Amino acid sequence: MGTQSVSASENKVSGISILVGGKNGSELVKLAKVLGGMGYHATLAQGSSSAVIKQLCEKSYDVILLDLCSDGFDANSIFSFIASHDIHGAILVLGDAQTDGRAYIQSNTLSYIDVIYHPLTDRSLKSAIHHAITLYALSHTSGPVQTELQDHLHSQNKSEQARHTQYDYLTGLPSRILFDDRLNMLIAQSKRNQSAFAVMHLNLDRFKRINDSFGLGMGDKLLKALSQRVRDRLRADDTLARLGGDEFLLLLPNVENQASAATIAQKIMNVFQSPFIINQQEIPVTARLGIALYPQMSSDPASLMNYADLAMVQLKAKRQTGYTFYCDSMSLAAPKRFSIEHDLRHALLHDECFVQYQPQISMQDGSLLGVEALIRWQHPEKGLIAPDEFIPVAEESQQIIDVDTWMLNQACRQMKQYFEKSAPPFKLAVNFSTLFVEQPNFVDILLTTLAKYDFPNECFELEITENKELNDMELSVEKLKRLRRTGMGIAIDDFGVGNAMFKYLKHIPATTLKIDRSFISDIKDSESGDSIVDAIVAMGHSRDLHIVAEGVETDAQREYLKKINCHTVQGYLTGKATSLDDIVNRYCQSGPLKNTA
Ligand code: C2E
Ligand code: CA
Ligand code: CA
Repeated sequence: MGTQSVSASENKVSGISILVGGKNGSELVKLAKVLGGMGYHATLAQGSSSAVIKQLCEKSYDVILLDLCSDGFDANSIFSFIASHDIHGAILVLGDAQTDGRAYIQSNTLSYIDVIYHPLTDRSLKSAIHHAITLYALSHTSGPVQTELQDHLHSQNKSEQARHTQYDYLTGLPSRILFDDRLNMLIAQSKRNQSAFAVMHLNLDRFKRINDSFGLGMGDKLLKALSQRVRDRLRADDTLARLGGDEFLLLLPNVENQASAATIAQKIMNVFQSPFIINQQEIPVTARLGIALYPQMSSDPASLMNYADLAMVQLKAKRQTGYTFYCDSMSLAAPKRFSIEHDLRHALLHDECFVQYQPQISMQDGSLLGVEALIRWQHPEKGLIAPDEFIPVAEESQQIIDVDTWMLNQACRQMKQYFEKSAPPFKLAVNFSTLFVEQPNFVDILLTTLAKYDFPNECFELEITENKELNDMELSVEKLKRLRRTGMGIAIDDFGVGNAMFKYLKHIPATTLKIDRSFISDIKDSESGDSIVDAIVAMGHSRDLHIVAEGVETDAQREYLKKINCHTVQGYLTGKATSLDDIVNRYCQSGPLKNTA
């Protein structure tokens, strides 16, 4: 059997590619057509598992959608192939009354397989695809987010054990199956009465860690106590169900709007304000609550549950606790984030990224004091992607460490190429994510790289943003002190916008302070200036720091900054980021250069 492609002219879902595999001929063709109509790029591989495997060998797909609703289709061999050949892509299996897709999830080593059941609607299909992509993206994220996600998946699987009973054996709460019944009934009722309601998905934060440190018995007692506490806050006709593990669902009739839902959500979150006392031990617990509203967000039961779940997962991805409402951007953000994360892996290896340098100019004599290296990504299909778009994604997925390492190597190599024998006549400043600084081998990597390119430490400046807090301040400060002792400069970037301004100023062995551009843009004329900028510059002077004003765009701003003795200008006024060639041509040929090292 062959393969064929179906895609819509109007690309509503940004060209997500889906491989649709299965045995059932006409149904499968119909499904691929529906997906094409929805804007996905669907490729059909029908007949047997080998047709799917052949297709996976030829091309990678964002989503692999397998129809299990026909006998004789060996999905397990596809999963084994995916696992052993490290094939990328989210996996969604399609089940029906006879085929329990969740059995595949339980029995499989691929932790991110997701499932959807017949009958399908465009909406449930779209939401299931986005959910599968989110699960895949997050399960390929390392660090705490991954652990949390695994917990989440684990408890989803465990929930299946409770599927065949109406009540949960541990807490006595309604099970998922009873919740589903009540949800369907409430939808019918609410349609008749034109009333609204809320679905909430409650998940504990770090429950696995609680279990690991206090033991399983304690975990069970905690779940019971917690169910009781939450139950006590609800009205008689509300439903609190246990989905399994540390996952709960809430069904709250007659919640007319977002404000009423927020009041109830806050009441539930208040449950976690005081610690639980189990066996005379205090156990502090935090949680996340995702909320979907009927009919504002959806009137389809599967979507409502998915949306509440997606909202909760969103909090997880941001490492936040508390509650949040579902919004459309969560479904959209997942594939976008996924594709950035996916594509960035290749970008660094395939020369899609390059470095530009923005000049830092002396306020006194207009000479070039240094350059800041800034990353650029020329995506083969999406064009130039701004760092503000992909750096936050790279931080979340920890790919930032690869990005920063790559930048460091590129910038040092390029600078040294120009100044082969002697030291570069101006400073090189490179941005480092706090995540990288917190890596145990950060200092070694940085010093070894500078040595590799024979790059003088005194001509190097490390930029660390004040916008993100360092988790272990003490340890990071020790590292920075070690680096400072080698002669390199340390700049506090984006000064003034974070919460750690004073902490940074007090503890970090900084040499330079970079005033965030949001403050510079507040300087409207060269006379009145801006009082916050005055205060920051005064602070810098009192600590004997070199002061750089970022984002200087007008003569008036420069004039004012010069008046208050700010040392360096960096901004569009004196030059946007450009190639090192341009910088050298512009500055290194005309007049003497000043080495500030
Ligand atoms: P940043 O470190 O604060 O870099 C300065 C940003 O301000 C640059 O944006 C620069 O192009 C922009 N800029 C400079 N002068 C002006 C001006 O006069 N007006 C305006 N409106 N903007 C100006 P860019 O290149 O888009 O970089 C954005 C952020 O991405 C950087 O902010 C930095 O936080 C991050 N970034 C860039 N490259 C790297 C990197 O290699 N590693 C890490 N960790 N972060 C990077
Ligand atoms: Ca910077
Ligand atoms: Ca900055």
